[in-house]
Amino acid sequence: MCPPAGTTARGLIQADDCGSNNDMGDHEHDHGHSAELSEMQLRVRALETILVEKGYVEPAALDAIIETYEHKIGPHNGARVIAKSWVDPDFRRQLLENAGAAFTALGLPSGTEHLIALENTPERHNIVVCTLCSCYPSGTLGVPPVWYKSAAYRSRTVADPRGVLKDFGTELPPDTEVRVWDSTAEVRYIVVPMRPKGTEGWSEQQLAAIVSRDCMIGTRLPDPGAER
Ligand code: FE
Repeated sequence: MCPPAGTTARGLIQADDCGSNNDMGDHEHDHGHSAELSEMQLRVRALETILVEKGYVEPAALDAIIETYEHKIGPHNGARVIAKSWVDPDFRRQLLENAGAAFTALGLPSGTEHLIALENTPERHNIVVCTLCSCYPSGTLGVPPVWYKSAAYRSRTVADPRGVLKDFGTELPPDTEVRVWDSTAEVRYIVVPMRPKGTEGWSEQQLAAIVSRDCMIGTRLPDPGAER
């Protein structure tokens, strides 16, 4: 599933990335429209059929995994956590001290990785990458965006973080330090953006609506104009 028009970071996504994305959200069970499927979707279907026929996987188990990653785990959980941290100082302290426990406190999946929350301030902006492969807090934020795994993002974020931010339309004051955090198999990060001006008096639900996945990776800033 390609990002909606206008949300693609120029220079970080090649056309091939969209075609090679076997996003689990594209999984369907109406197998009668193969002419409309991409090459990768056809490959996934073929692989699934073989694995099911040989008895290696249960279709119901696959459906349960897809349901989990589509609805139960995803950036909406992180958005709830960030929004609460903007209105509840005690919760914010907990999030910064033990991010996994903060997710658990809201009844949200906390994942199995060691999760660290990185606080954005006027002095420092944080951005997350995995230079080695694609480590991402999937247990809390769901499936990573395609560009996160691209060689361009992984290399340029370290060499030229401000250039990468610019690709996403994010410009920071020149005196704000940009700190890059390299995820590992053991440690994953979630960025806690600053609450934007103009959101005074908003409910947690309204605030959560402007915290996108990219805000929690650090490539974009929450946009009050994007409130649903
Ligand atoms: Fe990795």
